Amino acid sequence: REEKLTCQGCGVTIQTEDKEKPGFVPQSALENEEIICQRCFRLKHYNEVQDVGYSDGDFLKMISQIADTKSLVVKIVDVFDFNGSFIKSLHRLTGNNPIILVGNKIDLLPKSTNLNRLKQWMKKSAKDYGLTVKDVFLVSSKTGKGFDEVKANMNAYRQGKDVYVVGCTNVGKSTFINYLINESTGTKEAITTSYFPGTTLGFIDIPLDNHASLYDTPGVINRQQLTHYLSKQDIKTITPTKEIKPRVYQINDKQTLFVGGLIRIDFIKGERQPFVLHFANALDIHRTKLEKADQLYVDHLGGMLQPPSESSKAEYPPLQERTFKISGEKTDIVLPGLGWITLSGEPVTITVSSPSDVPVSVRPAII
Ligand code: GDP
Repeated sequence: REEKLTCQGCGVTIQTEDKEKPGFVPQSALENEEIICQRCFRLKHYNEVQDVGYSDGDFLKMISQIADTKSLVVKIVDVFDFNGSFIKSLHRLTGNNPIILVGNKIDLLPKSTNLNRLKQWMKKSAKDYGLTVKDVFLVSSKTGKGFDEVKANMNAYRQGKDVYVVGCTNVGKSTFINYLINESTGTKEAITTSYFPGTTLGFIDIPLDNHASLYDTPGVINRQQLTHYLSKQDIKTITPTKEIKPRVYQINDKQTLFVGGLIRIDFIKGERQPFVLHFANALDIHRTKLEKADQLYVDHLGGMLQPPSESSKAEYPPLQERTFKISGEKTDIVLPGLGWITLSGEPVTITVSSPSDVPVSVRPAII
């Protein structure tokens, strides 16, 4: 065959030469009606992901083509991992095109979440990173919540032009696009989705009308994502699968909380007070005395304190401390990729330890 074949799962160009490179299919599979690459095949049938040879540079080069277009950019972030999924370099790659920001996965937030405050915080954080967005929307690609609003606004903002959907791996970009396609055509699971980072590989062209298309772009891998340092099993543990249930711990001065073995919170100074934890229900929390915490971490990382599991703890980066003094307002300590802890505003000094590439931040409480 002469014409260029593309994978119906991820859009990558099909090749039969090199098993280790993107787009591989065995020669015999070219006869199949639906051609999907080996990677998508495995994903579909075994939920397994193979690493393929795209470097970060290749991804960014592909994305930077958007700068030469006249289009609307829809940037998707994970509301559970705003900082980790933001990709600060992205707007330099997309030129002067208008951008709307979409926070996905709101079905995982507790019912009592104040979505307006979450939006305000996202808008402000984007601005602090140097990105002015036209608008912020919150959706669930799982339940469809927020889609009517986002669709109407996408149409208004694009003014007949193409739409590029960008985002880093695992924010739910494929699921978001699938939802849009499914609603307009009734096709289910049009694009491959999975649990694990790095699933979408090519630019996928989805016609919007006779003159314009919506393009799915490759998911950029971001080193600031916690998932980057974890095994598949660990990622399953930290990823919420349903609405998270807040867990309340009354914490005293000189106590330490371990969130699995991933992050450590030391209560340095202040009156006894509630720490309201918002993490995946499957993630274990351990409380100990501050004076015992160092030794506990050494002795039990990968065992009682996991994730990271025994087999992946060697790759988990050392923790770096940051101290926060909080008083006055109800405040969230945001642990990117994991969730957040709400503090009442009663004066407190805490030290939070996380991998240096995965910095912890604070925001006005969203609940
Ligand atoms: P991509 O790498 O950005 O294309 O992300 P995917 O679409 O493959 O989604 C990554 C993971 O997040 C998958 O396990 C999805 O099922 C899950 N996911 C995507 N959207 C949502 C959502 O709105 N809510 C929830 N709870 N999970 C979602």
